[in-house]
Amino acid sequence: MALKIPAKKTPEEIAKLQQEIRKLKKEKNAFILAHYYQELEIQEIADLVGDSLGLSEAARDAKDAKMIIFAGVHFMAETAKILNPKMKILIPNPDAGCPLADQCSAELIEATRKEYDEDIPVVVYVNTTAETKAAADVTCTSSNAATVVKNLGVKKVFFGPDKNLGLYVKKTLPDVEVIPIPKNGHCYVHRRFDVATINEIKKQYPDAVVIAHPECNPEVQDIADFVGSTAAMIYFGKETEAKNVIVATEKGLVDRLNHDHPEKNFILAKDTAICKNMKKNTLELVRDSLLYEQHEIIIPKEIHDKAEKAILRMFELT
Ligand code: SF4
Repeated sequence: MALKIPAKKTPEEIAKLQQEIRKLKKEKNAFILAHYYQELEIQEIADLVGDSLGLSEAARDAKDAKMIIFAGVHFMAETAKILNPKMKILIPNPDAGCPLADQCSAELIEATRKEYDEDIPVVVYVNTTAETKAAADVTCTSSNAATVVKNLGVKKVFFGPDKNLGLYVKKTLPDVEVIPIPKNGHCYVHRRFDVATINEIKKQYPDAVVIAHPECNPEVQDIADFVGSTAAMIYFGKETEAKNVIVATEKGLVDRLNHDHPEKNFILAKDTAICKNMKKNTLELVRDSLLYEQHEIIIPKEIHDKAEKAILRMFELT
């Protein structure tokens, strides 16, 4: 059943909900994790804000909490559950899925393996469902994708679901054949960035540097001064001496950078770069997941064990 997303709230309503959440969090001994792409009002009540892998690792280490509220999309909460299977992990809105993750099913991996009939390892991005991870050999993140592929020491890999991240790996490791699964997997948010719009913004801020996520199209990556994962972009934003920075990634990260570094100016490289899936979580739903302890992530044991193996392999290789 689709959950209703409430209309925009006043600052007073936000403050009231945040107060309710903080009180419930204490009573329930809950730990709240929020992805950088969540609205700032959710990031403000989180115990930790981070990228998908960083948050899952934090979930693994949060042994003292009684439950974790994972304000992100479904695959992220699943990854947290895989790394900390005994923990009660709740997602505020179970409809918050990731269209990129949905583009690579376990069945597609099996069919591709059969089609090639060669022993080619399957590397999947953490932005995949638990079933897909279970069907793969190893997972990767946007920051370690090239290292994982390099350390496999093979000449060919299947790589999914993000084609642009696969091309980025190929650029770093030109001797490795990177076969995309599916052929054209993409994140609809990162695909929206284009060179013409960035050049227009640059006319207004000629001194600006451009930073881009590897899920962006190759031509956007080519004109960027820096290409890196969410965590790397956060680090770049902190360290750079540039006053103006044009950012090609989801709006939530740009809001966060402007919040953390008010002396600098981070400019979203495209107004429409908003992940509506991430924004399906709201303060009301965070409150309700705490109050009713609802929308728990459950993963069947067989899927869990295989998916865990693929994630642990990534840690071994990096
Ligand atoms: S920004 Fe793209 S990859 Fe991230 S959750 Fe949204 S659709 Fe998925």
